[in-house]
Amino acid sequence: LKNFKLSKSANADVISYSLETDFVKNFYPPYPHSFNASVEIIFRDTDNDSLVSFNINPFSIKIQSVEGDALLYKTEGERLTVKLKTPDKEGRYKIRIKYEHLNVEDGSFFVSPDILFTNNAPEGTRNWMPSHDVPHDKALFEIKARVPRKITFASNGLLSDSAASDSTVIYHWKTTVPLATYLITMAGSSEFLPDYFTVKEKGSGKEIPVRMYRKISDDPASYFFVKGMLEELNSYFSHKFGSYPFEKIGFVTLNEKFIYGGMENQTLISLCDNCWNEILVAHEFAHTWFGNKLTCLSWADIWLNESFARYSEALWSEATNGSSGYLNHVLYTAQSYFDGKNSMPLYNGHWAFNTPGIDSLYDGSVIYDKGAAVLHMLRGVAGDSIFFNRIGEYLTRFGSDYGNASTADLIGVFNETGITYLDQFFKQWLLYPAHPRYKISYNTFTAGDSVKLAFELRQIQDTPPFIMDAEILVKYSDGTEELLTFLNEKKEEKKEFFLKAKPAKVIFDPYFRILLKEVNGKTL
Ligand SMILES: [Zn+2]
Repeated sequence: LKNFKLSKSANADVISYSLETDFVKNFYPPYPHSFNASVEIIFRDTDNDSLVSFNINPFSIKIQSVEGDALLYKTEGERLTVKLKTPDKEGRYKIRIKYEHLNVEDGSFFVSPDILFTNNAPEGTRNWMPSHDVPHDKALFEIKARVPRKITFASNGLLSDSAASDSTVIYHWKTTVPLATYLITMAGSSEFLPDYFTVKEKGSGKEIPVRMYRKISDDPASYFFVKGMLEELNSYFSHKFGSYPFEKIGFVTLNEKFIYGGMENQTLISLCDNCWNEILVAHEFAHTWFGNKLTCLSWADIWLNESFARYSEALWSEATNGSSGYLNHVLYTAQSYFDGKNSMPLYNGHWAFNTPGIDSLYDGSVIYDKGAAVLHMLRGVAGDSIFFNRIGEYLTRFGSDYGNASTADLIGVFNETGITYLDQFFKQWLLYPAHPRYKISYNTFTAGDSVKLAFELRQIQDTPPFIMDAEILVKYSDGTEELLTFLNEKKEEKKEFFLKAKPAKVIFDPYFRILLKEVNGKTL
């Protein structure tokens, strides 16, 4: 769980991307995927060897020229390497790359008669823009895109200006805070019904501009439900996780070529066609803090993005439907873990160097559901006040400069609590593709006035013992109950408790503190 060393080839620290594109012909038959563009990249050369390389997909990008502080360049496989002149006084270089995006479907740049959009996570930006396409190199982004006048065009950040001619408009979008390349996005369509308004954040009182781009065909009732909940959603999460940190709130609905349910693209969240769904919106919006403001350091840490987002769905359910709403959601999450493959660990260190396929990287049952369940169990171990305090500290320490955090960073923040077995807690839940499988049995013995409960617990899974607080709820026939607890540290434990009467019922883990488990062959 150590922070990985950045590989030698990752030697750029990009400050900004400024993209100029012409998308006019992409909106007319035969709706080609080709376009001409140029991107100005301002960056530092972190290893000072006057060589820098960027990610490109040679299948879809053809480099035409590299100008500015570039002496030479070559494209080799999936890299564009540039030999540099001298930097400016601040140690920065500026190059402008002219290129053509070829008329191919690259899986990230989508064109159909109704809409043009990009969707990049995890490594699709390089398909349509040369970039240092890794989650730890966050940079500013701006785009000037020429489109037909009938098109409404949206992207990250704020609309800086737009210039119209007779038949075309140049939209100029610009961010003022950095973003990871996988969160860059754009969408243009003549079928958007744009809706611009502001929401007021409770606490800070600030007004946040909102731009919603729904499609004409979207169900109005679902859209207006989401619009109506947005102010409360932001006030709730900003109260828990910090004031809304970006230029605007934005959502856009796409078409069937968008293969995800939603994608938390920074300040312009993408949703599937007509997907104005409360929990989906809460999930994507929670990524504002977990993923966008504070970004996973490498793809090995993707669970930090997705587990917190899925867990935030439960928090939103708690805010709207109380503790039963919360519990229903975490139980649903646990069921979804058991129903899935759940065959790999939550933390996969080698993903820092070799990005897996999206089926693994975004494996719902592990990266989302197991991770969210682990956060639920962590809350149980730490208690509410420490849990939320530590999450606040994690976000502040690593995210206040829009930075990155690793799994080790999160663990470090929780280890500062002094709760002794937290290190083991993270190890057992992160490193093994497993959950505890308990065999449990008990007997009661009556001797005179006293009743003794002999409780036996075995963990039969093929991994070291899971150290967890074991809770036993004893219910009596007079309606009273008693909670017995012990820290289960071994694979086999026998405990004896004296009870006030013969129990009517004995329930192991009644409050799902060990959410992911099997008990005598049964889950949940
Ligand atoms: Zn997500």
